[in-house]
Amino acid sequence: MNTPAAFLPFSRPDVSEATITEVGNVLRSGWLTSGPKVQAFEAALSTYLGGRIVRTFNSGTCTMEIALRIAGIGPGDEVITTPISWVATANVIIEVGATPVFADIDPITRNLDLDKLEAAITPRTKAIIPVYLSGLPMDMDRMYAIAKKYNLRVIEDAAQALGSRWNGKPIGSFGDFVSFSFQANKNLTTSEGGCLVVNNQEEARLAEKYRLQGVTRSGIDGIDVDVLGGKYNMTDIAATLGLGQLPQIDAIAEHRRSLAQHYFDCFGRDFENLSGAQLPVADMHNSNWHLFQIILPNTVLRADFMKQMLEQHNIGTGYHYSPIHLFTLYRERGFKPGMFPVAEHIGYQTVTLPMFNTLQKESVARVVTAVKSCLYL
Ligand SMILES: *Cc1c(COP(=O)(O)O)cnc(C)c1O
Repeated sequence: MNTPAAFLPFSRPDVSEATITEVGNVLRSGWLTSGPKVQAFEAALSTYLGGRIVRTFNSGTCTMEIALRIAGIGPGDEVITTPISWVATANVIIEVGATPVFADIDPITRNLDLDKLEAAITPRTKAIIPVYLSGLPMDMDRMYAIAKKYNLRVIEDAAQALGSRWNGKPIGSFGDFVSFSFQANKNLTTSEGGCLVVNNQEEARLAEKYRLQGVTRSGIDGIDVDVLGGKYNMTDIAATLGLGQLPQIDAIAEHRRSLAQHYFDCFGRDFENLSGAQLPVADMHNSNWHLFQIILPNTVLRADFMKQMLEQHNIGTGYHYSPIHLFTLYRERGFKPGMFPVAEHIGYQTVTLPMFNTLQKESVARVVTAVKSCLYL
């Protein structure tokens, strides 16, 4: 009799025993909210990102909302982004009162198509929010050339891209605003959290105000509030989780690249022809391989495929993401099916296969065998 193989999730957080001990020390220290660990984590992130100024927050969503506020973007302004991202990317545009505008994606990279992005620019466009889906950067030189040509601010949604690179430089070490998420599934997690890379001390001061009720303190009892801020600060508990993982971030990306390479080796050269499915771009240089996603052929219903993977092979899969413009909130703003055909195709046919820091090569082989058996064998 066969023992069923253990359940394999598509993502699993990786927190070392040493880090768990450190979190215990924070809990015993009596200082639970933002304190010395947050400062140390911001300093460590800044060092990793080439000395740029970094501020931490309690999510990778508020980071983008605050970047939009720092840039002075609001009612009457248009912000262009991709329909294939976590809905947060577009929600923050609405949150600050601006108008979200979508441009379709490139079918190969699954990131914003820069030709379509440029075509979507109007005199009201103030900013763009590019997303590096699965950790794969876009053509960063061309994206920033477009931003410069039309005088646009850039808020990079690099939520998935800590440890990714462009021409050898870490994503976040150059550019305009860069936002990272440390949500539980990300390559580095603080359970929930995020950080924003800003350009100067003035922006950093504004970021600090927006993350804590707009407060500025002076002297022993001085306090003033001059902007409307929220409650977005990171805790020392979360920062301690981040401090434990940050030194590993390049090794994590390297390990995931080797797992991705193993996926390609196991699928083999003829997989796409035989199955009609599409593998991701085989980038072994820039991407941190946050996710490994395949696009199912149109003849396969994704829900059936995911159910079969789970019930017959005990393998969890995910989908990242459904097209944002077709959610009710966005349809109510006038978006309709057919507007972004590439995003709609990919949004309904994409499947995320297991990829996490502690995934073993044998498990990759097991996933590939299961995918093949669900698709054509
Ligand atoms: C995770 C993620 C976010 C949001 O980050 P949170 O920390 O969950 O707020 C935004 N955009 C993308 C592309 C993400 O993957």
